[in-house]
Amino acid sequence: MEDTQPCHFETGIYRPPSEGGSFSLLLRITRNCPWNRCTFCMMYKEEKFSLRSPEELKQEIDSIASICDKLQETSHQLGYSGQINRNVAMDLLEKEPALQVLPGYVMVVNWLISGAKTAFLQDANSIQMRSEKLVEVLLYLRVKFPSLERVTSYARSKTIAKLEPDELKAIREAGLERLHVGLETGDDELLLEIKKGVTSEEQIIAGKKAMAAGFQLSEYWMPGLGGKAKTIQHAENTARVLNEIDPNYIRSRPFFPAPGTPIQEDFASGKLEMLSIGEQLTELKIMMEKLDFTAKVCFDHDGNHWTDGNGQRLFSLDYEGYQFPQEKETVLAQIEKGLSGFN
Ligand code: SF4
Repeated sequence: MEDTQPCHFETGIYRPPSEGGSFSLLLRITRNCPWNRCTFCMMYKEEKFSLRSPEELKQEIDSIASICDKLQETSHQLGYSGQINRNVAMDLLEKEPALQVLPGYVMVVNWLISGAKTAFLQDANSIQMRSEKLVEVLLYLRVKFPSLERVTSYARSKTIAKLEPDELKAIREAGLERLHVGLETGDDELLLEIKKGVTSEEQIIAGKKAMAAGFQLSEYWMPGLGGKAKTIQHAENTARVLNEIDPNYIRSRPFFPAPGTPIQEDFASGKLEMLSIGEQLTELKIMMEKLDFTAKVCFDHDGNHWTDGNGQRLFSLDYEGYQFPQEKETVLAQIEKGLSGFN
C-alpha cells in the first residue's frame, strides 16, 4: 500500500447535533470565531481566529481521500468488497500505526460507514473566507467526494448581510447547501446587551439574502436569554424577526449561564434573573403563538428539558422537528401540558 499523501487534517470541536446524527465529515476551513464577543458564549474564548488557504485545505482533503482509498483497499483485501466496517478500520490501524494518533481517523471511518453523504465546514463562520476561495475549496471537495449530498456550515448574520447576492449565489452553487445561524434573539436591546454585533434589521436582511440565494437556512434561538426582565420582548421580537425571514428551520437552544462567561457574572451578581420552568414555558407559548411562518421548529438538543406531569419530554428531539403552521397546535398543546403542572 503506497503512501503518497501526508495523512494530516484538522478537525474542530463544535458542530450542530444534526451533523453528529448524520456522521458528517468535519472539515476545518477556518479556525475559531472572528467575532468572539458574545457574552453567553464559551466556545472559542481562549482561541484566536485564523483563516486557512485553499492550498492547505485541498491538501487536507487529499489526505482524507487517501485514508478513504486505503480503507477501501483494505476492505477488498479482507473480502468485504469495499464495505467499510470496524474490522477494516482496525486492520488498517495495525498496518499504519501512525493513524492511531490522527485525530479524525474515527470520524472518517464513521462518515464512510454512514454512506459519506454529509459534510460540515468548521469553525464558527466559514463565510469569513473570501468567497472566491471558499468556492474553490467547495468545488474541490465536491469533486473529491462525489457521494456528498449535503454540505453545511455555521455563518454569522453580520457576514451574510455584507456579502453581495452574487457571492452568496456562487457559494451556494459551488455546493454549500445549508447555513446554521445563531440568531439567539430578535430583540435589539438584548442583542446589544449580549454583544451579538448585529441588529435585528441586519438579521432580517441576512436571512432573506441567504434564502434568496437558495440556502437551506437554520436559525438558532435561545429561550430564556432575556431573563425575567426581557422575557416578553425577547419572545415577541424573536418571533417578529423569524416571521420576516421565514427560514427552513428554527432550533431551540435554551439559555444557561455557562461558567466563565460574562453573562454568568451578571447572573451571579443578581443583574440577570433566570426564568423558572413555568416562566420558560410561558415565554415559549408567547413566541410560538406569534410564529406565522412555514419553518420547521426543532427542539433537537438535550437542553430542551421541559416535561409533562409524568416526566415525559414535551418535545421530540427529532432534527426535523415540527412543521409550522400544520403542527403549531401540537406544539402549543404540549406547552399547555407542561404549564398545567404549574397551575
Ligand atoms: S458569533 Fe457564535 S461562536 Fe462567535 S462568540 Fe458569538 S456565539 Fe460564540
